[in-house]
Amino acid sequence: MRPARALIDLQALRHNYQIAREVTGSKALAVIKADAYGHGAVRCAQALEAEADGFAVACIEEALELRAAGIRAPVLLLEGFFEADELSLIVEHDFWCVVHSLWQLDAIEKAALSKPITVWLKLDSGMHRVGLHPKDYQAAYQRLLASGKVAKIVLMSHFARADELHSQSSAEQVAVFEAARQGLSAEVSLRNSPAVLGWPQIPSDWVRPGIMLYGATPFEEANAVASRLQPVMTLESKVICVRELPAGEPIGYGAKFVTPKPMRVGVVAMGYADGYPRQAPTGTPVMVAGQRSQLIGRVSMDMLCIDLTDVPQAGLGSTVELWGKNILASDVAKAADTIPYQIFCNLRRVPKLYSGA
Ligand SMILES: *Cc1c(COP(=O)(O)O)cnc(C)c1O
Repeated sequence: MRPARALIDLQALRHNYQIAREVTGSKALAVIKADAYGHGAVRCAQALEAEADGFAVACIEEALELRAAGIRAPVLLLEGFFEADELSLIVEHDFWCVVHSLWQLDAIEKAALSKPITVWLKLDSGMHRVGLHPKDYQAAYQRLLASGKVAKIVLMSHFARADELHSQSSAEQVAVFEAARQGLSAEVSLRNSPAVLGWPQIPSDWVRPGIMLYGATPFEEANAVASRLQPVMTLESKVICVRELPAGEPIGYGAKFVTPKPMRVGVVAMGYADGYPRQAPTGTPVMVAGQRSQLIGRVSMDMLCIDLTDVPQAGLGSTVELWGKNILASDVAKAADTIPYQIFCNLRRVPKLYSGA
């Protein structure tokens, strides 16, 4: 059996969820969209359900998967419905629904709903992706109330640059939000992971932690709270071939790496078809036989090469950690010029093995 696998530590997931709660004192929706950022949405939801205030996903398909698996907790649809005919399923399954556009508001007013729904009314406070314009916000709130179709409204917005700890952007967005919601007495939800970890002064009855649940930092810089997070996923495999090469020999596609000296090279059963980033360059850290080493040459579809020259205890069958508790996914992401969000979401083909349920 191919030795590539992702170990998922559900105890670490619960630990990280509790940090989101503890540092904010808020209720926390665990964001498990995109199959829990590659970690497996159903298993993650099951592991958190006893303590979580609810979950958030990107679409009704993801929400239905949770209900089909028996998850009864609240589930928020972060983009609401894409088509009005989803409203009957939203009612049937008690999903909470973001309203980010006026067409969604029109659809709710027109729909015949057998029960009122919970709406999270989204303001565009400066990110300019989705969300109602500040000038429309109060009127939208009043229309929802007047529609008789809504049991509860939570006021929400989303930050564009909360991961930039020296930027004024988040404070400016909060000011826009506060102005737009003046006089409305409803719960609010603003903070994603970087705002949970880095912006303690921003109010939020509900926080929406995603990446931090999986133990990765959203920041470039060190952060005291982020350093308490525990990585949930360990992506590992084994050395399946060892070769001793003299100086001057190319390794892998494109001969992008040429041995500068005699080297001992390990081939690992892991490639970009598993989600390991092909953009990761020579020098990207790995851990082999308990020691840090590095990737060399181009990542192939099913294999990659690592330097064993200074790791004499490593050989055929040695375990290699690509990321996990020792090699941080955020460091691998940075080397590959991307973010941990993307390398987690890209995970595929490898079996996921769960512990700490
Ligand atoms: C994905 C998402 C989150 C979670 O973001 P993280 O940076 O992973 O914490 C929160 N809110 C909304 C609206 C999202 O789309």
